[in-house]
Amino acid sequence: MARRFRLGGVPVGAMICLAAVCLSGCSKKELEGAQVAAAPAAEAKMEVATPGMFVPSGTMPGDQVPEKYRWNLDYMYESAEAWETAYVRVDAAVKEIPACRGTIVRDGPSMLACLEMVFDVKRQLESLDVYAYAFYSTDRNSSEIKARTDRTQALLTRFGEASSFMEPALLALDPQVLSAMVAAEPGMAKYAHYIDDLNRRRPHVLPQEQERLLALTGDIQAGPGFMHGALEADVKFPDTTDDDGAKKALTMASFPKFRGSKDRNVRREAVEKFFATLKQHSKSFAASLDMAVKTNIFNAKARGYDSAVQSALDASAVPVDVYMSLIQATADNLPRTLHRYVQLRKKVLGLQEVNYYDLYVPMFATSERTVPYEQGVDMVKVALAKMGPEYSQVLATGLALENRWVDVFPYDGKRSGAFCNGAWRQHPMVFLNYQNELEDVFTLAHEFGHALHFHLASSQEYVNADTPIFLAEIASTFNEEMLLDDLIRKAQTKEEKLYLLNKRIENIRTTVFRQTMFAEFELLVHQEVEKGGALTSDKLAEIYAGLVRKYYGPEFTIGPDDGFEWAYIPHFYYNFYVFQYATGLMSAIALSKGVRDGGDAELKGYLDFLSAANSDFPVETLKKAGVDLTKTDAMLATFDLFAATLDEMEKLLAE
Ligand SMILES: [Zn+2]
Repeated sequence: MARRFRLGGVPVGAMICLAAVCLSGCSKKELEGAQVAAAPAAEAKMEVATPGMFVPSGTMPGDQVPEKYRWNLDYMYESAEAWETAYVRVDAAVKEIPACRGTIVRDGPSMLACLEMVFDVKRQLESLDVYAYAFYSTDRNSSEIKARTDRTQALLTRFGEASSFMEPALLALDPQVLSAMVAAEPGMAKYAHYIDDLNRRRPHVLPQEQERLLALTGDIQAGPGFMHGALEADVKFPDTTDDDGAKKALTMASFPKFRGSKDRNVRREAVEKFFATLKQHSKSFAASLDMAVKTNIFNAKARGYDSAVQSALDASAVPVDVYMSLIQATADNLPRTLHRYVQLRKKVLGLQEVNYYDLYVPMFATSERTVPYEQGVDMVKVALAKMGPEYSQVLATGLALENRWVDVFPYDGKRSGAFCNGAWRQHPMVFLNYQNELEDVFTLAHEFGHALHFHLASSQEYVNADTPIFLAEIASTFNEEMLLDDLIRKAQTKEEKLYLLNKRIENIRTTVFRQTMFAEFELLVHQEVEKGGALTSDKLAEIYAGLVRKYYGPEFTIGPDDGFEWAYIPHFYYNFYVFQYATGLMSAIALSKGVRDGGDAELKGYLDFLSAANSDFPVETLKKAGVDLTKTDAMLATFDLFAATLDEMEKLLAE
C-alpha cells in the first residue's frame, strides 16, 4: 500500500484525507481472506530457523530489535524538537495563505506567486505528516506521538480551509483568459497540467452558492457508509464448529478463516450460517445500500453528469469506456479462465460439486519455506535485476541494511500491515511486519515498487509529483509479478511449482475476477435506480446471484443464500472504486510481461511511466507505456496468463 495524503481537486468532493489512500491497497487484503492466511506462530518457527536468523515476536520491546532492522528518520528532522519548530513555521505559513485571495487573479506574476506559496506550504505539511505518521506506526503506546499526528491532521484541515478560495477563484476566470495568463507567464509551465485538470472539471462545477449548499450535505452523504458499519457491528452470527470440533464465535473478522478450512463440513457450516444471518438482516442492509446509491445519483445529477458511474470516474479523469471494457473483456473470457478453474478445483479437491465454500480452501499444501530477511532482500534484487541501472541502484541502496530505510520486524506497540511513504525528493521509507515467510518477501517487493515509484516521481516538480491512486498499485503489483515469475521459473519441486502457480491464479481470481464482479454489481444497481427501479433486499440478492452464476459458470453450484453476500462488502460504499484493483493488476501483468520478454523500449516505457507521476491524466500516462485501458487488448494479457497457468497446472498434475 502507498500512503500519501493528497490535496484533492476542489471543488468536486474535495478530499484532504488520509483514509482515502488507505482504501487502496490495504482494505482489499483485509477483505479478501485468501491473502490473510493465518500465519504460523513465530514460536513454531524457531525450531526450523536458519542459524543466526532474527526471529521476531510482537511482544518484544522495540529497543531489543537490532538497530539495522529499525528505520532511521533523522534525515527528515534531526529530532522531535526540530519537527516542532517546523510545525510552528508551517502553522504560521498557513495563516498567510488567505492574503492571496485578493491578488491571485490580478495578473500572471501574482497568480504564480500564490500557487507557489500554497504548494510550498502543502509540501512542508506533507513532510510533517510523513514523519509524524511514521513514528505513530512504530509506537502506538505513546500519547505524545499520537498527539503529533492529531495536530498534523488539524493543521491539514486549517490548510484546506485557508486555500479553499483558490480553485473557485481560478475557475471564475473565463477559460481563454486563464489559459492566456498561464501561457504568458514562463514560471507557470509546471502548473499547466494542474490548470488543465481544473478546466476539465469546469462544466461540472456549480455557482458558488450551490457549491456551498452541496458542501453542507457532506455529513449526510457520509451517512450510508456509517450505517453499514453500524449494521456490521450489530449483526450477531451463531457460533460455528472449528477444525477441532469446538464451537467458536463466527464474526465478520473470523469468517475468512472458517471459509478456508480444509474440513469441508467446517467451511460449509460457517458459510451457510454467515449468509443466512446476512439474509435475516438484509432489509436493513438494503436500505443503507439503496441510500448510498441514491446519494451517488444525486451528486451526479446535481453536477450535470449523465450517470453516477460517469460522475465517479470523472474525479480521476477516467473515461467510462475503461469501466465498460473491463466488464466486457472479462465476460468474453470467462469460459477459458474462471469457468475452467472451477472445473480444476472440482477435480483436484475430489468434489462432486463446487460451492462457494469450496473456493477458498488451498488446493495444494502451502509453502513451509522459511525466508530470513537477508535472503528475501536478495530474492527481490534478483527478480528485479532487469530494471536498469538507476532503478537497481536505488533499490540496492534502499535494501541495504546499513542505510536503514526499512522498519523490518514486528515488536510491541508497532501497528500491523505494511506501507511505503515518503516526502518529495527525500528517500522513501518502508514499513513491514516481516515474519520470515515467503509471503513477506512478496510484501517487501510490493512496498519497494511504491518506493521506486516515489523516487522516480520526485523527478517531477512538486505539483506533478503525486502518484495517483489509479496508478499507484501498478508499480507495486508489477514487482510482485516479477518476483512470482522468477520464483516459478526456478521452482525445484513439483509441489513448490504448483503452490506458486496457484498463488498466481488466486491473485488474479480475487483481484481481477472478483473485483470486476463487484464493479459490475455496482454498475447494475445504480442503473436499476437510474431507470426508476427499487433496490429491495431480494432484488439485490437476485442481481448478485446472477453475477455469481455468470462469473463462476456452469460447473458452480450456488447455495440458496449466496446472493446475500452483497451485504458483506463494504466496498460498495466507495463509489465505483474497486474496478481499479482489477485494472491495476491487469496493467501490472501487461507491463511486467513487456519488460521481461521485451527490450530496452519496453523497459524505458515502464520507467517513464513511473517518472511521469501526476504530470498527465492517469489513463494517458498508462497509454504512453503501452497499456490502453479504453480497449480490451491489454486486458487479454491477464486472461492469457491465467489460461496458460491453468494449462501448466494441469500438465504438472498429469505427470
Ligand atoms: Zn500497495
